[in-house]
Amino acid sequence: MTRLEIEQIPVLRDNYVYLLHDPTSGATAVVDPAVAEPVEERLALKGWTLTHILNTHHHDDHTGGNLALKQRYNARVVGARGDSQRIPGIDLQVADGDSFLLGSAASMVMAVPGHTLGHIAYWFPESLALFCGDTLFAMGCGRLFEGSPEQMWASLLKLRGLPDDTMVFCAHEYTQSNARFARMVERDNEDLLARIDDIDARRSRNLPTVPSPLALERTTNPFLRADVESVKKGVGLPGGDPVRVFAEIRRRKDAF
Ligand code: ZN
Ligand code: FE
Repeated sequence: MTRLEIEQIPVLRDNYVYLLHDPTSGATAVVDPAVAEPVEERLALKGWTLTHILNTHHHDDHTGGNLALKQRYNARVVGARGDSQRIPGIDLQVADGDSFLLGSAASMVMAVPGHTLGHIAYWFPESLALFCGDTLFAMGCGRLFEGSPEQMWASLLKLRGLPDDTMVFCAHEYTQSNARFARMVERDNEDLLARIDDIDARRSRNLPTVPSPLALERTTNPFLRADVESVKKGVGLPGGDPVRVFAEIRRRKDAF
């Protein structure tokens, strides 16, 4: 039973980079290093040596630090097989259903296409930690740059099926604006209204709203609720097919 120590590093405008440390073996990974320097600083502070770089997808604000960190620590870069041409410095190619071992901590790789076609998530069951990049956000989801609404909805359903107490470590602090949008979709959702108060309080003290428990996303994230009647009605599609409803929520958010 290996519980990872997890460090959250805010970088750039609103990105979160994570350090995962297995205390048993000393293995240490960084997830989606947008930039190298703040990662190096945090590693030095913790006294950890980087062994792995885990990428969820190819975008610059998730891979920009790959090469510098790889060179400095001789770390192994892990990314999606489907994105092997686009992940800088990739060493180990993984695909849906693969398990990846960080020291003694096992993770499962989940293909979650939508934001990009090669997007993957890393699920560490013993730590109840999900690293989902730009697929699922707190009360939001990533824009569909490459995939279809069908693909993204299927990806979100996979993530929605993980255990209640899973913590969702997404890659951006977009929660407050996501919350304003969510309230427009579901005005009478009590869980949502309570969560918005909590988020506003945290942001006013400059505290992160990430990670969040999956159970809370299920009850408050409109993008995980395209099959719930109140959300269907909220976007003017009562009784609508979930994929169609999901596409409409995404379309409205893009224009929000
Ligand atoms: Zn992205
Ligand atoms: Fe991003």
